Amino acid sequence: MSRAELKPPIAAGGMIGVLDLQGDVCEHLDHLGRLGVAARPVKQAEDFEGLAGLILPGGESTCLARLLQIFDIDKVIIRKFHEGVKLWGTCAGAILLAKSLTGETPHLGLIDIEVERNGFGSQLDSFASEASIPKLSQTPIPLTFIRAPKILSVGEGVDVLLRMGDFIAAAESPGVLVTIFHPELTPSLAFHRYFARKCGFRPGGEETAIDPSWDKTSWMRLARITPMDRRSAEPLAKVLPQEMDHETPEGI
Ligand code: GLN
Repeated sequence: MSRAELKPPIAAGGMIGVLDLQGDVCEHLDHLGRLGVAARPVKQAEDFEGLAGLILPGGESTCLARLLQIFDIDKVIIRKFHEGVKLWGTCAGAILLAKSLTGETPHLGLIDIEVERNGFGSQLDSFASEASIPKLSQTPIPLTFIRAPKILSVGEGVDVLLRMGDFIAAAESPGVLVTIFHPELTPSLAFHRYFARKCGFRPGGEETAIDPSWDKTSWMRLARITPMDRRSAEPLAKVLPQEMDHETPEGI
């Protein structure tokens, strides 16, 4: 299915936000754009206005949790969740949303799952796979796992969407979707379409939504990353709070 064939959303006011503190933000915005779903990056409390859903992207959960606290966004996410804003955590985002973290203190605790960080090992144990999830797509969905966590178990009110061997890879409650892999790093729009529907949007297109116009650098048009921009970027020490200097997050 080409991008031009995908119809714009019908109904559903509002838009979907992508938490923009750290991690792969532009990749999610790019996927939502391909579905015709209005989307924006979310950095501060004001950006939550009019959101039907929020994606917490992959990245590094210790860093993300720190930034959530520093900028007081954790409380806003919890409040918005109770007001009905749907949440989707991919990888580090799923870690942030879990009610139980093996050997660690949980963060937002908004879905009853137990998660083991870095459950497959080091960065070198990242891998790609695929799986059939008939509820989402008539064709197999490509899956990218990057130093992923494992979902070990789910509690009451949480449905397993994908189980693979000894771990659960995707699950959902009425208000929260979690995936330990990265659909935004593949040409499949199936998970973004599924989440958009959960948020009340009706994006067009077939269930088997591989977008052939996607490639690994599509997101760059949104990030506007060029070698020139990188050279002229402000040094980090100038834009981050003083207390963040010289801190090394655990477990990267
Ligand atoms: N290993 C990371 C963490 O523990 C998650 C990696 C990812 O989001 N791809 O936060």
